[in-house]
Amino acid sequence: MNYNYRYRLRPSDALEEQLAWTVDTCRQVYNHFLHRLNHTDDTSAYSEQKLLPSLKKWWNDLKNVHSKVLQKVVQRLYDNLSTLRGRKENGYRVGTLKWKAPGEYRSFTYSQSGFKLKNTSGRARLWLSKLGEIPLTFHRDLPDDAEIKTVTVKQEPTGKWYAILGVETPDDPPKKPENPEKCVGIDVGILKYAHDTDGTAVESLDLSDERERLERAQRDLSRKEHGSANWEKQRKVVAERHADLKQKRRDFLHKLSNYYATEYDLVAVEDLDAKGLVELPGNSRNRAGAAWGTFLRMLEYKCEREGTHFVAVDPKDTTKECASCGVKTDKPLWVREHSCPSCGFTADRDWNAAWNILSRGIKRLGAGRSESTPVETALPVSSVVDAKRVVETGSPTLKERTASAVSE
Ligand SMILES: [Zn+2]
Repeated sequence: MNYNYRYRLRPSDALEEQLAWTVDTCRQVYNHFLHRLNHTDDTSAYSEQKLLPSLKKWWNDLKNVHSKVLQKVVQRLYDNLSTLRGRKENGYRVGTLKWKAPGEYRSFTYSQSGFKLKNTSGRARLWLSKLGEIPLTFHRDLPDDAEIKTVTVKQEPTGKWYAILGVETPDDPPKKPENPEKCVGIDVGILKYAHDTDGTAVESLDLSDERERLERAQRDLSRKEHGSANWEKQRKVVAERHADLKQKRRDFLHKLSNYYATEYDLVAVEDLDAKGLVELPGNSRNRAGAAWGTFLRMLEYKCEREGTHFVAVDPKDTTKECASCGVKTDKPLWVREHSCPSCGFTADRDWNAAWNILSRGIKRLGAGRSESTPVETALPVSSVVDAKRVVETGSPTLKERTASAVSE
């Protein structure tokens, strides 16, 4: 299994300057290969990486960057290229890869070699080839059998430096059950964050205080003279507020996804790409879409880790279809109730959708379980849960939380 662990780096001023220099050199290398990509036929990450040794002959700065780090820069360019192509195939309008200006490129990565984590006499340090030893705050232990595969050094817009350790552990994840017993379908919506087939609805996380603080900081920034020392100081405050907001949202999504992955044998959700295009309007689509994407990625890897089936289904018509008889009826967004003209089944709109998602998920998996509809099963009592409770207890239900559900 692969995990990422993130630690705060505490470089001295001199080291910090070196780190920033390395980031900027990598940025220039990225732009160099981007230029080649746009002006040369038939390039690939592999063929371009082979050019690095000869590049060092005239580009002297490159001698002070570890060779694996440079190879990763080329890899990153070609990874971006394939992401872009993937989005294009999925029907998005995409531009071309952009030249990276200073500030748009913030990290570099060692893979396989050129790094060592030293943790003797309680003082943790990260040794990086060509850079030296950097103290880090080792707030969380790595698993005993973990092997560090990659080290990414990143400067956040707040100015703080972090090391993200990509580790691999040898143990295989638990086997997924052949006949999943506890199954759940989750509909992610706008008014409620999530609505599942067990009748649990989780309210969206209230981030209004954080947003307000961010906006206030941004207003203060706009009053400062651009580029002045005060402006620079305030820019960091704005970045901190951004980071707070992001951290709070991630914490919520971590806990919610962990709950579903540990509590169930099978979790069915709607596929992201199509979902984004379906029903959310304008700006809220982008914001909700991004959070939904993060939630899905977290849920998927946690399900993998816990031995839980994860199925992403086609979201087409999940709100229109009747979960009981399958007949489709048009419903504008503001109609919050599903009321079937064909069979008379009524349910909350999102709950009806969650059931459709679950039955599609079970069908996709071909699980040895007959499809059930809400009419055949007992109707659960629908309960609405404040997002705060998820954050505080790690679970949206009143059931006793499992130990693993809070450990994340
Ligand atoms: Zn019906």
